[in-house]
Amino acid sequence: MGMMDGKSSAKTWLIAEIVSGMALTLRYFFKPKVTINYPFEKGPISARFRGEHALRRYPNGEERCIACKLCEAVCPAQAITIEAEPRADGSRRTTRYDIDMTKCIYCGLCQEACPVDAIVEGPNFEFATETREELMYNKEKLLANGDRWEAEIQQNISIDAPYR
Ligand code: SF4
Ligand code: SF4
Repeated sequence: MGMMDGKSSAKTWLIAEIVSGMALTLRYFFKPKVTINYPFEKGPISARFRGEHALRRYPNGEERCIACKLCEAVCPAQAITIEAEPRADGSRRTTRYDIDMTKCIYCGLCQEACPVDAIVEGPNFEFATETREELMYNKEKLLANGDRWEAEIQQNISIDAPYR
């Protein structure tokens, strides 16, 4: 094979590549876009998605959590701290329920361990903060999350129920 043959075949090859590349670009130009305009648009997430934690209430407003501390015991990151005292009516409730979200590994074991579906990992993934302190969640914050996300949490629990 001569010098010219090698050069011209390389040239042909290159142009073919460019043409096919351009054709591909053109094809995708007219296809529906796969990108979304986040944060105004969001992609779908699974009903089993393990996002930001929430403490749920019963429909009558009473806290679900009975301070059994199973979630605290099972947590592999030791991120949960619970203190409890009986109330005047004899029911057992937490006086303190903290999660250190900087320790949490989002394993979902707390949710699995809870006998009354009180602590859950909800669908919220937009809870980035600028300081560590803001990621030290207390009971008030967790209950507020529960109030905010109850509709979505309830829906996700019912979607997942047939598989449990
Ligand atoms: S998701 Fe896992 S690591 Fe996070 S608080 Fe629950 S049990 Fe602990
Ligand atoms: S959140 Fe559930 S597992 Fe944890 S202490 Fe309360 S009732 Fe027990």
